[in-house]
Amino acid sequence: MRPLIAGNWKMHGSLTEAASLAEAVQAGAGGAAELLVCPPFPYLVPVAGKLSGGAVALGGQDCHAAAKGAHTGDVAAPMLRDVGARYVILGHSERRANHAETDAAVRAKAEAALAAGLVPIVCVGESEAERLAAQAEPVVTGQLDGSLPDGFAAAGGVVAYEPVWAIGTGRTPTEAEIAAIHAAIRANLKTRFGAAGGGLRILYGGSVKPANAKAILALPDVDGALVGGASLVAADFLAIAAGV
Ligand code: 13P
Repeated sequence: MRPLIAGNWKMHGSLTEAASLAEAVQAGAGGAAELLVCPPFPYLVPVAGKLSGGAVALGGQDCHAAAKGAHTGDVAAPMLRDVGARYVILGHSERRANHAETDAAVRAKAEAALAAGLVPIVCVGESEAERLAAQAEPVVTGQLDGSLPDGFAAAGGVVAYEPVWAIGTGRTPTEAEIAAIHAAIRANLKTRFGAAGGGLRILYGGSVKPANAKAILALPDVDGALVGGASLVAADFLAIAAGV
C-alpha cells in the first residue's frame, strides 16, 4: 500500500506562513509517499489554493459529529469536503485531553466524516503511565474498538498510533515497541474488518523527524507517519517523506 505522510500543523503559523509552507510542500511533492497537510481551519481555503494537481492532499484536524446545526464554533465534515479536504484527523490525544473527547465521541465524528466522503484518520495512543504499567496494548485496542465506526474499512480509514508521551517531546518508543504495537493494531483491524483490515494504513506519530523517520517507516505495519512539529518545516517534512 502507498505510505501516507501526513502533516498536522496543529494551531501554528500565520496565513503567510501557511501559504508558503503549502507552496514548498507542493513544490517538493512527487515521491513514493502520498502527502497530506492538515492546516488550521482558517487556512484550509488558502492552502487548497496552493495545492494543485492532487499531489498533496488536504485534511482537517477535527469535525463535528453532526452534518450541520446550531454548534457555535464547530466545523462540519461536509464543510471540510466542500473546501477540498479529503481527510480529517479525529480523536487526536490533544482533543481527547483538552476537549474531553471520548471513544464514543470520536466514533460519532468518524461516522460523520464517512457520511461526508472524508477519510477519517483516527488517533489512538497510551499515556506514559499506561505504558509503564504495561497497559499500552489493551489501551490502544480498547480505543480502536470504541472509536472506529463499522464503515471504517470500506472507506479506507487510517489509524494513527501516537503515544501521548512521545508527542512533542523528542522521545519515541523503541523500534521493537513500535513494531509490537503496530502488529497488535493490525491484528485488531483484521479481527474487526476481516481481510480489509489488512489493507488499512497504520501511521506512527510522535517526534518523527528526518533523523528517525527512515528506520520507523521501515518497520512492519508502519504505513506512514503523522508528523507534528517537523511538518512545519517543508524541508523536514519532505525529508521524512523521502524516507519511505
Ligand atoms: P510531534 O511530531 O510534534 O511530536 O507531534 C506528533 C503529533 O501529535 C501529530 O499529530
